[in-house]
Amino acid sequence: RSLGNGKHARSQSPLKFFAEAKKSINDVFKDIAEYVTESQNYLSALPENCKCENAKSVEEFGNMIQGIIEVLTRDHMKVVFFGRTSNGKSTTINAMLRNKIMPSGIGHTTHCFIQVEGCESSEGFLLTEDSDQQKSISDIKQLASALSKVKLKENSLIRILWPKQKCKFLREDVVFLDSPGIDVTPDLDDWIDKHCLDADVFVLVANAESTLMQTEKNFFHKVSSRLSKPNIFILQNRWDISVGEDDPEEVEQVKEQHYQRNVEFLADQLKVVDRQEAKNRIFFVSAKETLISRLHEDNKTPTPHGSLQRNYQERAFAFANFEQAFEVCISKSAVRTKFEQHSQRGRNITSSLRSVMDETHKKSQQQGDKLQEVKSEKESELDFLEKQTLVLTTEMKDKIKAMVEEVERKVSYAMNM
Ligand code: GDP
Repeated sequence: RSLGNGKHARSQSPLKFFAEAKKSINDVFKDIAEYVTESQNYLSALPENCKCENAKSVEEFGNMIQGIIEVLTRDHMKVVFFGRTSNGKSTTINAMLRNKIMPSGIGHTTHCFIQVEGCESSEGFLLTEDSDQQKSISDIKQLASALSKVKLKENSLIRILWPKQKCKFLREDVVFLDSPGIDVTPDLDDWIDKHCLDADVFVLVANAESTLMQTEKNFFHKVSSRLSKPNIFILQNRWDISVGEDDPEEVEQVKEQHYQRNVEFLADQLKVVDRQEAKNRIFFVSAKETLISRLHEDNKTPTPHGSLQRNYQERAFAFANFEQAFEVCISKSAVRTKFEQHSQRGRNITSSLRSVMDETHKKSQQQGDKLQEVKSEKESELDFLEKQTLVLTTEMKDKIKAMVEEVERKVSYAMNM
């Protein structure tokens, strides 16, 4: 199979890295599934006395591979947004999705988590934890009213399934999780266990008008104790407010102060990145302006006068730079966290299959030798079928050996692309 085309696609978006690795690993597992079926068919045709004890486990390998393929198709990249109420988490998600999907305010008054993920259908719908029933949401007003009607437990999860065709990030298997304001929910441990252990990236949406709060910092201390070196980005949002200041020097000073404190937090306190890399994780943006300008750009309508502040371009670039860094980070992390386990299990299965075939080979050889002794004088009478079995087992053994090597090669290719 050709794995080469990926190189070209990857230069378009770093997110493709995940999709390509997913496809390659999926192909490898399909190959393994074929080999397992082939071995299974072969073993079932073999005389009982040539089979080794573990021959039955080959059937089990087939089920395991199917299980992995199923999980693999559901694997995605997950980004979780945190911050105080009204810092602009929902607006940031909407700006990235170039759609007004997240309702402002609602997630926080109900204390629940809202996840946006892609679906194949052309209409969006809503799923709550307590039922399998899909609630349709053809527009966002309807979503807001649907949310206000459903009774939700604290910390529960609402899933918004939104047409993949409408958003690049959803098409590429990114899932967005918006959290209730960190200032209104006390039980952070519960949150982390329930919603954050499979996250690839965390985005802290901070308010550039104030410094990071202790609750915001505590959350990441807790996350760091559960996940080794979580990937964290800090968005200093509402930076458009700064243009109201008369003194540009003062604005620069405020910016520098935020930089210093955020770098200190990421590098010295959390120790998740070094100081140099920490600087690349902090962005001064305005989610509101970015959302407004993107919506108008997509609709080909002019942005209303006064909705974008002075030097808007600078903040728009910062937002785009954030997305670029985010894409590289999330796809790399997801390939590692999601696929490493699968490929390890794939390796284990292929090497177990190999040892079953090796043993089967040994056993048929012993059988052959026994026959040889019995019929030593009449070599020519050696049962044709028995001879054939020996030849075939050797062939099969070599094939499995080659397959194991091929799997190793393909897996390491997919993991290191
Ligand atoms: P959340 O509670 O963190 O999800 O915050 P929302 O996204 O709901 O935003 C709360 C309010 O802040 C809304 O009225 C937004 O329009 C506004 N807002 C969000 N981002 C910005 C921004 O960058 N600049 C300004 N001026 N307002 C913003």
